[in-house]
Amino acid sequence: MTEAWQESFKKSLKSIEQVNQFFGTNLPELPYEILIPPSLAKRIKENGLDSVLAKQFLPSAEEVMSSQEIGLKDPIGDQNFAKQGQLIHRYKNRALFLPTTICPVICRYCFRKNELSEKDEIFKANFEKTKSYLNNHQEIEEIIFSGGDPLMLSNSKIEFFLEEFSKIPHLRYIRFHTKAPVSLPNRVDQGLLKILERFTHHFETLSLGIHINHSEEIDEQVESSLLKLRDIQRLQLLSQTVLLKNVNDCPHILENLFKDINKLGVRPYYLHHPDKVRGGMHFQVDIPVGRKIFASLRSNLPGWMIPQYVLDIPQGHGKTPIYNPEQIEFKGFLMDLNQDMIKL
Ligand code: SF4
Repeated sequence: MTEAWQESFKKSLKSIEQVNQFFGTNLPELPYEILIPPSLAKRIKENGLDSVLAKQFLPSAEEVMSSQEIGLKDPIGDQNFAKQGQLIHRYKNRALFLPTTICPVICRYCFRKNELSEKDEIFKANFEKTKSYLNNHQEIEEIIFSGGDPLMLSNSKIEFFLEEFSKIPHLRYIRFHTKAPVSLPNRVDQGLLKILERFTHHFETLSLGIHINHSEEIDEQVESSLLKLRDIQRLQLLSQTVLLKNVNDCPHILENLFKDINKLGVRPYYLHHPDKVRGGMHFQVDIPVGRKIFASLRSNLPGWMIPQYVLDIPQGHGKTPIYNPEQIEFKGFLMDLNQDMIKL
């Protein structure tokens, strides 16, 4: 019988002493929290300390150095758009809802690592204020559960929030941003599947944006969890991938990843250029390098299997596509159109 996810989660490695003991390493104390669930720790050990799993989830001395270098504590400008009630309202038609600071694993490159480890004000719970803000902003059509990882909430809590949001008529779409199906796959339990299935009928679209960076993250358990999610007919499965130096900054790795997740019913959605986060600067990739990698994807994958390549512009200017290889001068083209000079 599969162990309940709460039991697996309790056994996670949470301190540098536990990490050093489990992996036989000699890592120094870190300014950031540590959390590696047992099944992932086992896989990191099997794949080796220089594997892409280790690079993403095992603390490193580079991280200590990077915590003192340049890099922003709030790289995407969350604070500029924070609203009471654990909301970030950056784009007109959608808002992020941050009901938890807990994640199934702590990714060493996390863009919110400073905000999460400092338990920022943004995460203070007040659901009455959440509802009141949403009721007063009819332009918001989509709620994106983020955090932390929203699937670390209990099933009853998830159900409660969905129930409440379904009473707000202008909320048409719900999305969960989560890494749980990949890093703690037994989180996809029967209770969660039932809730997701039920609420696909209450909203026009219910989506999971699954965070995955490399095919090595997929094992039998992950595959089985994703296939269970795929079996929910009306549930939309999307992916989010962060481009990371020495992890996936290679066209073949990304090509394989997008083909592998496509087989499991997940549609590649975002390829994020890494954010300039303090403590994660060693994962930075130069934009021209990212553009070359992306150009190669355009040659080797069908268009519908290619995610949007975006950068979150610091200070909260939002996600911006950063691939424009031909440097098309849109303005001139539009002027011609306006003057009716284009002959088809
Ligand atoms: S799961 Fe997401 S929020 Fe949590 S540590 Fe990883 S990147 Fe950060």
